[in-house]
Amino acid sequence: MESESETRNQDLSIYIHWPFCRSKCPYCDFMSIPKNDPREFNEVENLLLKDLGNSLKELKSPYVKTIFFGGGTPSLMSAKSIANILNFITKNYRTDTDIEISLEANPATFSKQKLREIREAGVNRLSLGIQSFQNKNLKFLGRIYDSEQALKAAETVAEVFSNYSFDFIYGYQSQTMEDLKKDLTTAVNFGCSHISCYQLTFEEGTPFFWSLQNEKIKPITEAQEVEFFRYIQNFLKKFSFNRYEISNYALKNFESKHNLAYWRYQNYLGVGPSAHSRLIFNNKKYELKKLSDIDKWKSNLYKNLPTYEEKNPLTDYEQLEEIFIMGLRLSEGVSIKSLRLRFSEDILDPILKKIDYIFDKNLFQKSKNRIKLSEIGMLKQNSIVEFLFN
Ligand code: SF4
Repeated sequence: MESESETRNQDLSIYIHWPFCRSKCPYCDFMSIPKNDPREFNEVENLLLKDLGNSLKELKSPYVKTIFFGGGTPSLMSAKSIANILNFITKNYRTDTDIEISLEANPATFSKQKLREIREAGVNRLSLGIQSFQNKNLKFLGRIYDSEQALKAAETVAEVFSNYSFDFIYGYQSQTMEDLKKDLTTAVNFGCSHISCYQLTFEEGTPFFWSLQNEKIKPITEAQEVEFFRYIQNFLKKFSFNRYEISNYALKNFESKHNLAYWRYQNYLGVGPSAHSRLIFNNKKYELKKLSDIDKWKSNLYKNLPTYEEKNPLTDYEQLEEIFIMGLRLSEGVSIKSLRLRFSEDILDPILKKIDYIFDKNLFQKSKNRIKLSEIGMLKQNSIVEFLFN
């Protein structure tokens, strides 16, 4: 596996953010607007291409390794626009022979025909946000489809794509362990090669956060969290799925290359409203963020103005912190050798000393060359990184 220091500067992953959904799920804090206006969809599709072209022009000979259409609900985009964006990249830039092109889909938003067109446009990996196959849980999560539609969508994806992921949300009051077992069994029986299981979180500003504050929803206990987490790992292991990241499981060689680029702290360009990037300009790593206000993003594109609302160089210390935030999510952890090559002793050694200090507490796995979290450590990843960098 490639480590963060071996990444060549020009290697690039591209993220395209589609900012619309059919309706807003009550737990979601992503930048997504509930809308179904074909004229605005068409306008944004054209502007995404312009934003992409402008942003790529600023980069030195990028070599594109992965492309990811996320959102929002990018399965609402027209297959023609997806094809236009992909043709633009492949005609004008060098791309990996093994390029991974993923698209996120919501079960209520496509027909078999549409999915075939998306595949013909060049998408070779589909990530289906099922969340659950069961009515009571879909209802609790505010999803816009029922169990029957979820199964139908899964069937269609399995028919049209050979590389696909099913995404689930777990850890909420209406869901039992039996429910989770049924969902995972269904997923495995479909023959998917990748499964994501995200624990429900209550993000500030969402209706679920409000319900939590008002005690209309009760979170699960820490003991239940551990139980669910272990159950998923043990269940999927029996079917040869390896947990390669806190919430992600894959059969051998079916890990998401695009998401690995984030976790391994490689370069990525995000286009579309609110999209983030980590890029190198003049040998300096920058964090960049596109305008979150969609009207401002559109108007800047019409006026040929930049669409970044933030563009800040990152200090070595900030980069080190980001490497730990991302890298400790991975089962492979972070390579000590590559940290030594990249950072001076005065920045790195205090962090390594802190790790030694908490090492006994069973949070880390013993490994000579890499820093890796144990299973319990993974569940406490946020507070570990906070301890290390405060
Ligand atoms: S479909 Fe996905 S992006 Fe859209 S509101 Fe629901 S969780 Fe958020």
